[in-house]
Amino acid sequence: MAKSKSAKISFVIPVFNEQDGIKNFLDKHFLPEVAKISKYKKEIIFVDDGSSDNTLKIIQDYAATNNDFKIIAFSRNFGKEIALSAGIAHATGEAVIMMDSDGQQPTKYIHDFIKAWENGSDIVTGIRTDYNKGHGLIPRLGSKLFYKLLNKMGYKNTIPGSTDFRLLDRNVVNEYNKLSEHNRITRGLIDWLGFEQTIVEYKYNDRIAGKSSFDFKKLLHLAVNSFISLSTTPLIVLAYIGAFIMIGSFFLGLFVIIQQYILGDPLQLYWNGAVQMSIFITFLVGLILVSQATTALYISHIHAEAQDRPLYIINKKQSRNLEDK
Ligand code: UDP
Ligand code: MG
Repeated sequence: MAKSKSAKISFVIPVFNEQDGIKNFLDKHFLPEVAKISKYKKEIIFVDDGSSDNTLKIIQDYAATNNDFKIIAFSRNFGKEIALSAGIAHATGEAVIMMDSDGQQPTKYIHDFIKAWENGSDIVTGIRTDYNKGHGLIPRLGSKLFYKLLNKMGYKNTIPGSTDFRLLDRNVVNEYNKLSEHNRITRGLIDWLGFEQTIVEYKYNDRIAGKSSFDFKKLLHLAVNSFISLSTTPLIVLAYIGAFIMIGSFFLGLFVIIQQYILGDPLQLYWNGAVQMSIFITFLVGLILVSQATTALYISHIHAEAQDRPLYIINKKQSRNLEDK
């Protein structure tokens, strides 16, 4: 499908304490690739996620001379996921490409993304073929388990190695902007939205400068968060375990009553009162687990609805070229 001449492509780039590498990223990698896009208008949205170094100042300087630059400056660090959401919400283009600012996602692929979009793709997803690179054994095993579990939970769309390096069509962006949860994993939510995804494989570059702000603790937090925010499966598993215990001990109890008291212990088990009592208690434990999980399910729904704070706070004074939203 040919896109209209006046179509615009928005780039969304979250930045957090990237002062050492951002100039190199922009001058040597990003801007030269963007300059090759001649068919479309461009908009480059930087979301400064409360950097405490010179990052914001540096991109403000770029914005002063380049009208394609827009800056959303957060009042504090809200995290990359929220930063992406803010950028997507402010994007005005017909397609939105999101990418990191550290040079790890090779900028040359934006042309492949755009081509796939021109061919009718609603979502183009960058898949890391080396997604284990640069991580220790435990995060590696963890990420394997994470994707396995996600898939088991019904998130069949989530491909191991899929990243936030993506292009979204305006259709998808409009749907994404309707989502209101606060605990969000951008990838997970986009996968949840559905739509067909075109995959572009790439390898992670080394960081231009600085180091990843995602240590093991942050990654674990992200993983737990995505399970809890994407699904209630853990609760349902709890309910199943409870139901299993309950039903098992119910039949065991029934067996004792029939075998011992009605038939007169033909199996000669001589199960005494203590055994009978523990079977009964096991039954009660199962019952408690089931009711607890059910209650927790209700609470989780209320919790999801009750979160009504704004997703992020923008520092208007520090933002640039931003339309009021
Ligand atoms: N980032 C952000 N807020 C944060 C942490 C990171 O906006 O709290 C940005 C960061 O500047 C970079 C991108 O998110 O552009 C990816 O971060 P990082 O390289 O630390 O993550 P990794 O590549 O290890 O996944
Ligand atoms: Mg990185």
